[in-house]
Amino acid sequence: MNEQLLSIININKYFGKSHILKDVTLDIKDGEFITLLGPSGCGKTTILRCIAGLESIDSGDILLYGESIKDLAPNKRNVNTVFQNYALFPHLNVYDNIAYGPRIKKSMGEGEIKKSVAEMLELVQMQGYEKRMTHQLSGGQRQRIAIARALINKPDILLLDEPLGALDLKLRKYMQTELAHLQKQAETTFIYVTHDQEEALNMSDRIVVMNEGVVQQVGTPGDIYNNSKNLFVAGFIGDRNIKEVKVLQKKGDFCSVKLGNSVIYIKPDRSLVDHDKCSEMETAVLAVHMDKMKISHEEVPNSLYGQITFVHYAGSQIKTEVDVDGELLTVIEYQNDYGNYNIGDKVYVSWEETGALLLPKEDTTGRGQDE
Ligand code: ATP
Repeated sequence: MNEQLLSIININKYFGKSHILKDVTLDIKDGEFITLLGPSGCGKTTILRCIAGLESIDSGDILLYGESIKDLAPNKRNVNTVFQNYALFPHLNVYDNIAYGPRIKKSMGEGEIKKSVAEMLELVQMQGYEKRMTHQLSGGQRQRIAIARALINKPDILLLDEPLGALDLKLRKYMQTELAHLQKQAETTFIYVTHDQEEALNMSDRIVVMNEGVVQQVGTPGDIYNNSKNLFVAGFIGDRNIKEVKVLQKKGDFCSVKLGNSVIYIKPDRSLVDHDKCSEMETAVLAVHMDKMKISHEEVPNSLYGQITFVHYAGSQIKTEVDVDGELLTVIEYQNDYGNYNIGDKVYVSWEETGALLLPKEDTTGRGQDE
């Protein structure tokens, strides 16, 4: 198991009267690729800036290798930041951009700098570009040089603030894979900020999902995707049908809920609602991954019965909308014969057990705390 590197302990941050970070606690291990994921304005960049020392914290502590760094100036913290706009020096060529940090810090002689720049260029696969000026590089290449320029300083942590945001979709997808490989090769801890769930799921060892300054869930991509801890995470990650249901009593090994006029059974391990405490007909939320659902003409156990209202063929993916007693459910299937299902067909809708989650309706924004 990797060594504990950074501990963020109960930090709070206010801008004026706005409570921006609310009791944020995170443990980050050496060598991890960890992503802060959440909607715009939820406080991701503020966390990075607090780690970098560019913002102070109002309470709590930040420990690097067990030592508090909260009162250290930014240049005394061994962390580097890569921004979306690269922040390369336009008047310097690639070599001098990468060599800039060690030269300013006088941490290496020119011989060592030459060797390190060559290593960095190899790491980001940009050998031979030493003499290019930055305006002669593509967006993806500039981003790689920005990363090389940060990594040459051998930071304990590299902070990356939406570094792929300015790239077009195709290049962004390519760079996601590149970055994930590069991080493992560089053996440097990456703390990455994005609001793009696909980016987070693709690259990270662990994801921290945030909303309104509150950490909602920390886990591996698989955990966050399949076992979302609350309604916010379930709504933010993946494409799910999210429906209010009436909670019925626990029956044997199953919990039963009512959607429209149909009763369906959920395994207790797929429910975060305490059925024993529920009074009959209390409401909860059923969240089902669209791509873990199936439709069929034949009746299947534990399914809903409805009528197809819309079929959309998008390459290998077929999106079907089914009306179940006035509730519209979207089903995404990948292997389905074209023309099997048509608008107006009566069908049964079911899902894999792991596709569904029953969640309490709750406030996850920390608004109960002092503002
Ligand atoms: P995005 O994805 O849009 O970059 P984010 O999750 O990184 O968003 P932050 O930049 O951390 O969000 O901002 C969190 C909140 O703090 C926002 O409401 C923002 O307006 C506010 N904020 C950030 N910096 C300041 C500042 N210097 N003064 C006042 N408010 C600020």
